[in-house]
Amino acid sequence: MLKYIPSLTDTVIEEIPHRVTLAVEISNCRGNCPGCHSPFLREDIGEELTPAIVDKLIADNFGINCFLFLGEGKDPEALLALARHIKSSYPGIETAVYSGREKVEDSFYEVFDYVKVGPYIESRGPLNNPDTNQRLYYHGKDITSVFWRKKHTA
Ligand code: SF4
Repeated sequence: MLKYIPSLTDTVIEEIPHRVTLAVEISNCRGNCPGCHSPFLREDIGEELTPAIVDKLIADNFGINCFLFLGEGKDPEALLALARHIKSSYPGIETAVYSGREKVEDSFYEVFDYVKVGPYIESRGPLNNPDTNQRLYYHGKDITSVFWRKKHTA
């Protein structure tokens, strides 16, 4: 089972480049990042995220073209099944996942268009910090530097 925090679900434009993204915070994080920015996400809180809930979230947020799982929880099969559901039901919506792990399984790259990896290290900062250890891949290609160009031209 995958759980999310309904009150934190939001439409965002910064997390995934050039996409209008519906971001869903997933609890039960299995990471242990030093300086974790959201310790509550490591707890077993929130409500179950089911295909029916995903359908409702997408219907309620017309115009999005990306669905982002902010975290991967502790049930990879449930996570991958939800991503497959989105890909098969909504051809115009890409899938994304933010993982706090250094590496994820190949199956993640098969069902997610965007995959972010790397634990959060406070001294190195998030994706928009050129010193970051984190990486964002699009169809297997490292596109992390897009965030740095955005920062420098802002
Ligand atoms: S991935 Fe790391 S920073 Fe994010 S909630 Fe989990 S432990 Fe905290």
